[in-house]
Amino acid sequence: MVEDAELEWYYRGLGNEKVLIGMGRELNAPATDGPNMDFLPKIRGATTYRAPRLANFELIGGTSGIRPITPDILPIIGPVQSVGGFVNCCGWGGEGIMHSPAGGVIVANQITGASTSFVDTRLFLASRFV
Ligand SMILES: Cc1cc2nc3c(=O)[nH]c(=O)nc-3n(C[C@H](O)[C@H](O)[C@H](O)COP(=O)(O)OP(=O)(O)OC[C@H]3O[C@@H](n4cnc5c(N)ncnc54)[C@H](O)[C@@H]3O)c2cc1C
Repeated sequence: MVEDAELEWYYRGLGNEKVLIGMGRELNAPATDGPNMDFLPKIRGATTYRAPRLANFELIGGTSGIRPITPDILPIIGPVQSVGGFVNCCGWGGEGIMHSPAGGVIVANQITGASTSFVDTRLFLASRFV
């Protein structure tokens, strides 16, 4: 998966010469059941900028919906100080499947009191937005 975090644009191969391209950071866009074709020029523009060889893609389908993207792109993981026993693991945006093993380890460590060595988990606390 290749992502431009600034544009919140990404693509990944689906096999059989198909590619999934996604984009979007609108705070108040309408939620529709199907693809929003008004959005196509913006996606094609970002694709031309980041992956020119994909720019002339032929559209075969699409979808639209709400994604939980945080202001700094990072997820929200960790205990909530004001609610005893409550641990967040959300805000994964467009990467929650890929990162779910690591997220699971972090949350499990926080619940059991073990330390997490592979990342500074303070980066993910909800309190960073306060
Ligand atoms: C089009 C698209 C493509 C994506 N592609 C990728 C990809 O290639 N790789 C990748 O890693 N990630 C991808 N993602 C992102 C990934 O799907 C998410 O990050 C991940 O699913 C988030 O998991 P989650 O468990 O945090 O939340 P969710 O999967 O959203 O689960 C939350 C659940 O809570 C339920 N819920 C909500 N409110 C309530 C309530 N009040 N009471 C009870 N239940 C409630 C919801 O119904 C839902 O089942 C993609 C997302 C989209 C939309």
